[in-house]
Amino acid sequence: MDSQSLQPFMDTPSHSDTPTPTPTPTASRYENQKRRDWNTFGQYLKNHRPPLSLSRCSGAHVLEFLRYLDQFGKTKVHTAMCPFYGHPNPPGPCPCPLRQAWGSLDALIGRLRAAFEENGGKAEANPFGARAVRLYLREVRDVQSKARGISYEKKKRKRQPPPHQ
Ligand SMILES: [Zn+2]
Repeated sequence: MDSQSLQPFMDTPSHSDTPTPTPTPTASRYENQKRRDWNTFGQYLKNHRPPLSLSRCSGAHVLEFLRYLDQFGKTKVHTAMCPFYGHPNPPGPCPCPLRQAWGSLDALIGRLRAAFEENGGKAEANPFGARAVRLYLREVRDVQSKARGISYEKKKRKRQPPPHQ
């Protein structure tokens, strides 16, 4: 097993990005990934300034963690100003930022949410299940689907919530 430092979270490259998270290939791979994610989050808490204990961790801290992970992202998310906005396969480079793909974040939160409770956390105090986290993921999905011309919700066309309150 390779040592896991702060280059933690493997993002899927954008070309292999799929609209829905793929089912886990095997249970043990899922378990391994979950343990790695949990360790990564523990490491993040340890390095947090000011120091943060798991019991005091809220949905807001989970959002901080997700934003922190964006620096390791490999998914190009075009801004509305970019000529490639809405193009899933842009013909050339552009200066838009790289982010974690929504599908990766969504799967990560699912694993951390399970790990939290397996490590003695109470379901009703699970920061990974916080409403703010759900709303954030939904916004990331909307932004990325618009930026890259991918529809994540092909079947039910719900009214879009406003992107900013
Ligand atoms: Zn761009």
